Amino acid sequence: MKLINPKSLTFKLWVYFMLFATVILTILWLLQIIFIDRYYQSMRIKDIEKAANTITSAYSNEDFEEVMRQLSFQKGLTVHVIDTEGHILFSADMMGSTQPRKPIDNIYDPAMYELAQSATGEIMHTISDPRFRDQSLIYGRILSDSTEDNIYLFIHASLIPIDSTIRILKNQLTYISIILILLAFLISFYISRRLSKPITRITESASELAKGNYNVVFDKGEYSEVNFLSDTLNYATKELAKTESLRRELIANISHDLRTPLTMVKAYAEMVRDLSGDNPTKRTAHLKVIIDEADRLSTLVNDILDLSKIQSGTTTLNVVEFDLTKTVNQVLQRFHVFAERDGYTFHLNLSNQANVKGDKQRIEQVVYNLISNAINYSSEDKHITINIQELENSVRFEVIDSGIGIPKEELPYIWDRYYKVKENHKRAIVGTGLGLSIIKSILLMHNASFGVDSKVGAGSTFWFELKK
Ligand code: ADP
Repeated sequence: MKLINPKSLTFKLWVYFMLFATVILTILWLLQIIFIDRYYQSMRIKDIEKAANTITSAYSNEDFEEVMRQLSFQKGLTVHVIDTEGHILFSADMMGSTQPRKPIDNIYDPAMYELAQSATGEIMHTISDPRFRDQSLIYGRILSDSTEDNIYLFIHASLIPIDSTIRILKNQLTYISIILILLAFLISFYISRRLSKPITRITESASELAKGNYNVVFDKGEYSEVNFLSDTLNYATKELAKTESLRRELIANISHDLRTPLTMVKAYAEMVRDLSGDNPTKRTAHLKVIIDEADRLSTLVNDILDLSKIQSGTTTLNVVEFDLTKTVNQVLQRFHVFAERDGYTFHLNLSNQANVKGDKQRIEQVVYNLISNAINYSSEDKHITINIQELENSVRFEVIDSGIGIPKEELPYIWDRYYKVKENHKRAIVGTGLGLSIIKSILLMHNASFGVDSKVGAGSTFWFELKK
């Protein structure tokens, strides 16, 4: 992967992290440098107002001077209490001195005039002196003590310290910003690499998978989203591998099953051509084999088509309510030939009517396959019992043959595609090994329960239960 690809997650994350750092720094600058002036000023105003209140309430007390001195010292204020003529009655400056001094040029004159006019009895001004680049706050209030003349309180606070503070802060902030930007640059690069790495790794594995390597393992990352993704992909890989091996097996099986009858067809056709063509008896026998093998082929092809249709999930069930007894009777008609020609007997225990819900055609196929298996694998006595029994919520269908049975260890496998119990298989039986897996797929689609009980030599009972 290229280190800097503007479209990559790494790069995007990196940019966002840097943006984040920049925003934070900007806020810091704004608060520290731009707004600090106003903040400081309003803080000073509050200080002054508070001090003015305290001084006013302490005015007639004995410890008035002490209060004044302390306040001016603590808050860095210069406090003057003067009379109308401009004589200083009390004064305290930030050095804590209370030596009365005459104010220079009587600077309070305009302020006193203004105070006399003001309705609130208070004034607050910011004054700046361009000579010293100095800014200060002047506060004034009438401290009247019921005497004929007004007494004035003036508090003076310099805003000068803020300038130097800002300079120090600016200096500091510049260093901090440079260091922070550098750190953010490195850390965010590291973090974004780290966050996107698992995804990159998963992509690499996925392209391996795309090439057909089903052994890839998707690694887990450090966070749950990636873990979930890799779990899902691992699962998908396993399923793909399974499908792939099934596909191979299927092709192998199909080609094997197709080849055998085709070989037979070819062999017997050659025999008819070369040997038995003129001998009607032999010819008929050989042609019968050819016809049987052709039948076997078409059964096989039909079964394969059925199964792949059902298992591909493209077919949907056409669920209707129908009478299972009637359906079973219809299917049995198709087996009449066997009953008459080969001497099979069917014992039926069917209730008069057994309504069930399901796809009629598919259930018919299930019934047909089960009865056909019972015929194929029954023993010499050729008795087949079919039961339909109404249960509380469902109807149970059973086909019981007294045939060869199925060994216990084979039972779990007979429902698999192409599975044939080894000893069972005589060539005479037209079997594809697909019948039961078609049955299983159909019954699973119906959410029906089904199963088999079997004993070697005693016979088998295949059953399913359909909802009413
Ligand atoms: P097939 O077309 O070979 O009958 P199925 O899928 O219907 O394929 O059955 C799978 C295997 O299960 C059969 O090959 C057979 O060995 C066994 N089997 C099925 N039904 C019976 C039965 N009624 N009695 C004994 N064995 C059976």
